[in-house]
Amino acid sequence: MLERKLCKFRVASSCLYPSQLTTPSNPDALTELLRSAFGFAGFRAGQQAVCRAAVEGRDLLLVMPTGAGKSLCYQLPALARGGTALVISPLIALMEDQAAKLAALGLRVARVHSGMDRSAARQACVDYLQGALQFLFIAPERLRVPGFPEMLAKRQLALIAIDEAHCISQWGHDFRPDYRMLGQYLPAMRPAPVLALTATATPTVQADILAQLGMLEPVKFIHGFRRVNLAVEVVEVSMPERPAAICGLLAAAERRPAIVYATSRKQSEKLAEELARITPAAAYHAGLDAETRERVQTAFQAGELEVVVATIAFGMGIDKANIRTVIHAGLPATLEGYYQEIGRAGRDGSLSRTYLMHSYADQRTHDFFLNRDYPPVDHLTQVFRALGEPPQAVEELRSASKLGEEEFDKALEKLEIHGGARVDFGGYVAAGGAGWKKTYTIQAQFRAEQFEKVLRFTTSSECRMAALVRHFGDVEDARKTCGICDVCDPAGAVLRQFRRPTAAELAMVHMIADELRPVDYKAAGTLQRAVDASGRLNRTEFDGLLDAMVRAGLIGIEDAEYEKDGEVRRFRKVRLTEAGLELRESMPVALLISDGVVDEFAVRTASSARAKKPKAAAAKTAAGRSAGAAAAPLKLTAEGEAIVARLREWRAAEAKRLGVPAYLVLHDRTLTALAAERPKNPNEMLMIDGIGPAKVERFGEAILGLCRGIHQEG
Ligand code: ADP
Ligand code: MG
Ligand code: ZN
Repeated sequence: MLERKLCKFRVASSCLYPSQLTTPSNPDALTELLRSAFGFAGFRAGQQAVCRAAVEGRDLLLVMPTGAGKSLCYQLPALARGGTALVISPLIALMEDQAAKLAALGLRVARVHSGMDRSAARQACVDYLQGALQFLFIAPERLRVPGFPEMLAKRQLALIAIDEAHCISQWGHDFRPDYRMLGQYLPAMRPAPVLALTATATPTVQADILAQLGMLEPVKFIHGFRRVNLAVEVVEVSMPERPAAICGLLAAAERRPAIVYATSRKQSEKLAEELARITPAAAYHAGLDAETRERVQTAFQAGELEVVVATIAFGMGIDKANIRTVIHAGLPATLEGYYQEIGRAGRDGSLSRTYLMHSYADQRTHDFFLNRDYPPVDHLTQVFRALGEPPQAVEELRSASKLGEEEFDKALEKLEIHGGARVDFGGYVAAGGAGWKKTYTIQAQFRAEQFEKVLRFTTSSECRMAALVRHFGDVEDARKTCGICDVCDPAGAVLRQFRRPTAAELAMVHMIADELRPVDYKAAGTLQRAVDASGRLNRTEFDGLLDAMVRAGLIGIEDAEYEKDGEVRRFRKVRLTEAGLELRESMPVALLISDGVVDEFAVRTASSARAKKPKAAAAKTAAGRSAGAAAAPLKLTAEGEAIVARLREWRAAEAKRLGVPAYLVLHDRTLTALAAERPKNPNEMLMIDGIGPAKVERFGEAILGLCRGIHQEG
């Protein structure tokens, strides 16, 4: 308590420009400073409250998405409080960028990091001690330099901002040992308030940040993760089916511009090639030279390219507001990365859709990457043992090692990150501390867990946006559902197919309700044995039924675990909701069961077509999904059927000639519509859903001929 009071007192007395000191009672002054110092007309969502708390001298944790404007939340309070703000940043590039921006505003900024020469660093310290700086940026490892923390402590800091604060936590994905030591240097620099900023912090990471930094009565600000105009869809699509589904989706102009995220360079190139037959598209990955990448990025930005198929390397520098679709052609490694990638869609505020395709095979791909990126501890140990006190040439160590070149480099890289090796720029390396093993193991395990979370996200029956918002720690906001994802609005899903339940499934729904009514909950497995003793449904089908009941608001499912024989076992608790309690046999139930990919986008092999259940009561037909067209299936006359047959034949030949799937030439429903309407000229053709000017130009004559020909014969 005493510390807090002291802190407030210091705020006023250490202020270089008392007239700028803004108190909560005078928010206008902050807005004025925002305008005069930064040239911004107003605060963005969330910024003002954070700035006020910081000006008051509170310790705080700020979690907001990338691009939301976190920097301002320490920069403005720094000016308002007066004196020098110390900014700790893990990346030199980030530091340079921010320092340059502040300097351009006419503010007095200095940096100290390993990438600059000694005299410049010394000058920065002199300026700092003379009170001539408003911002001092440092890399965390600077604090280990003897005398440096003491030098900082000679003056009263306005505040201490720690950017990318998740790097402190060994649970965070960019863990940096140098960051972890920050906490021990902070007390000497108090009572300056400590501001921790990050775009990604799960509740575990948040707690770790607060503890590691020894924050005092911290205020947490977590917001901005909900994106109201993103409709998220998660669909099970087998690997071989993905290209066709992606081409099918992006054939529609209103779904472009689009970014497709591929999991490998090869996939990115193959997809780009296929897409290029429909619309200007290009691949983008780290294997391309810088010039090509630059060209792709510029062309996409300028609208010359409609689709970019990228590996994760793409998107950082992209500032394109009208991206309508983001497709993940495979499972991402983390929900953080996934969220950032889908977040590139719909920056203009218009509705945009995102599709995440997954199947069991993704898990194997991922295991491969995990093993590559996080080699076995044993590899690291081998390299560590070869290191000594005097630096040795990396090249020599590499050729002496039993590990392959890539394996060696990866192991050394990990050792360095975790403090087990000290590499200098001249290509020499010396042994570091032995503590690397613990943090490395924890991090590798953490990575695996992160992927588990992605898997759970795909199988969950919770609103997608709510699940993401919860993942980022905004528990409050996670209570709201989005209304537009495939869970909230199955009927509105584009790629994911839903169907009405069969009579047998409906009967089972009532049995489930009866089974749950007298109890608090039942484990999903127990429930299945109780209502389906003869095992008519397999596990996946039964889970599908439960998920449908969740979507209909009849039951709730909660992950739980128990311990048996020293092993943790997971299970799912199923309980009735209020609505479920009310459910009676006589009542109609609006239930939609997940059923793979919408036919329009699916390539059916003979076997998968057979495996598919009949969709007598399909929730929606393909036609119903296209821009508001009537959903009623067309009844054709015999003559119409004959035209369909001819069109089909022509389509098959055309598809073969062009080397594309048949539906890219004409959809089944378009084909049927043509047979029913029998257009006589290009204008009539254009009236048909699925026929645009491009199709008329390319195929108009042929199609009109086919319709007419039959007409005359008949
Ligand atoms: P991040 O949250 O990722 O750290 P930044 O702090 O880098 O985001 O801010 C992203 C961009 O938003 C910057 O170009 C910044 O100048 C701009 N920005 C921040 N606050 C405002 C504001 N109130 N008005 C207009 N632009 C702002
Ligand atoms: Mg930032
Ligand atoms: Zn939702």
